Amino acid sequence: MRKIALIDPATRQGLAHREQLDGLRRFRYCPHLGLQALAAASADRDVRIIDERLEPLAPETLDADVVGITVRTALAPRAHELAQTFHRRGIRVVFGGPYVTLTPELALADPAVTCAVRGPAVAIWNQLLTDLEHGAPQTLYEGRPDDDVAVRCSNGSTRRYRPSTALVQITQGCNFRCRFCVIPALYQEQYTVPAVEKACETIAAQKARVLAFVDDNLIGNLSFARQLCAGLRGAGKKWVCQATLNVARDPSLLALMAEAGCVGVNIGIETLNTTTWEKENKQQNFSCELVSAIRRMHEHGICVSGGFIFGFDQDDIGVFDRALEFMARSGIDFAACHILTPYPGLPFHDQLRREGRILTGDLSRYSTYEVVFRPRRMTPDQLQAGFDRVVREFYSIRGICRRFGRSAQHLGVSTALVSAFGGYVVHSNLNRGLPIHA
Ligand code: SF4
Repeated sequence: MRKIALIDPATRQGLAHREQLDGLRRFRYCPHLGLQALAAASADRDVRIIDERLEPLAPETLDADVVGITVRTALAPRAHELAQTFHRRGIRVVFGGPYVTLTPELALADPAVTCAVRGPAVAIWNQLLTDLEHGAPQTLYEGRPDDDVAVRCSNGSTRRYRPSTALVQITQGCNFRCRFCVIPALYQEQYTVPAVEKACETIAAQKARVLAFVDDNLIGNLSFARQLCAGLRGAGKKWVCQATLNVARDPSLLALMAEAGCVGVNIGIETLNTTTWEKENKQQNFSCELVSAIRRMHEHGICVSGGFIFGFDQDDIGVFDRALEFMARSGIDFAACHILTPYPGLPFHDQLRREGRILTGDLSRYSTYEVVFRPRRMTPDQLQAGFDRVVREFYSIRGICRRFGRSAQHLGVSTALVSAFGGYVVHSNLNRGLPIHA
C-alpha cells in the first residue's frame, strides 16, 4: 500500500461555489498543516494531498491504496459520501479530525470507514499505515499530542496558495476550558509547547517574511511566549497569531510581541455579556475592559481581530445592536462572527438535547453560520437574521471605509490596506451569495 491520498474535503456550499472563486479569493487560502504533517510522517510512501476547496476530486478514478480524510463536523456528510465511493472501489478509508474525536461512534457506524483516529494523528500515523499494510488495522486509534512537539510550517507553500505567507504551528491545544469550545477535547485537555530554541530556529529559517501562527493560543504559557518573542526579535518576520484576551493586560508582553514582528492578533471576545463569560468559563476575559484593551494593542501597532459568538442563553434580541455599537466604538479592525454551535459529542450538545432544543441532526449545518438549536431569549429566525445583519453591516462599504481611516492612523496605511482588503472580500462574498469565508 504505497499510494496514500490525504483529502481536505469541501462543504457542499464550497463545492457549489468553487468555480466562482476568482484569483483574489484563492489568494487567501492556506494549506492544511495537519495533512502536511501526516504526509511527512508517511515514511517513504507516495503521498498526495488534495484540497477539495480548490481542486476537483474524482473519487471514482482517484489512484490510491489508502485515503485519509480530515473531517470537521460540518464536513461529515461529504466525507461519508466520498468514503462510500472509495469503499466500493476497495480503497481503505481512514477518518480523522474533530468529527471523529467528538463522535467516533458516528464515524465508525459507516462500514465504508476502515478505521478512525481520535485526537492528534501524527504520532501514530506510521503505525496505522503499517497495520493497514499488514491487513490488521484497529478500528479506532487513540491519537496523542506529538511526543516531541513539532514545529510545523507550510514552507512557503505551493503556488496555488497565498505565496508570501507561511503557516506555523508550534503549540498544541489550549490552557483554558471554555464550555462551547472543541479545542480542549481535541488535545485531551493538554497544552504543549516545544523547546523554544528549536521553535525560533525553525521559524527564522522560513523563507516567507510573513507568518501566520495557527496555534489556538500562542500565549498559553506566558514564559514560553516571552522567550519565543525574544528569540524572534531581529528575525525580520512579520506575523499574526491567535491569543487570549489576557494578553492585553500585560503591556510588557505586548511590547515584546511588537518588537518580535507581531502585527495582528485574533482574540476570542465572544460576547460583551460578563455573565456569559462566567457561565461559559471564559475566565481569561473576566475584569477586562474591552475598549481600553483594544486601544492598548493598537498602541503597540497590533491590529485586532475579534471573535464574536451569537446565541448564548443570555443573548436577547438587543445583542446585535450592542455588538455593532461596540465594534464601531472600539475601533476593532476585523470581526470573525459565528453562531453558537453545540457540536455533537460535547456535553453542551447533550444538555441542549435533554432540554429539547436541538433543531436538526443535519451535520452539514453545524458550520457556525447556521442556527441549529433553539436559543433561549429569541427565536431561531431572529438569531439567524440578527447574525446576518451584524455581518452585513460590519462588512458594508461604509464600515470598511470607516475602519480604514482609523486603522491607517493607528497602524499605518499598509496594515490598514490589508485589513480593508480582507473586509472587502467578505463584503463581496456576501453580495454574490458565496460563503462568508470563500
Ligand atoms: S480560549 Fe479559545 S481555544 Fe481556548 S478553550 Fe477558550 S475558546 Fe477554545
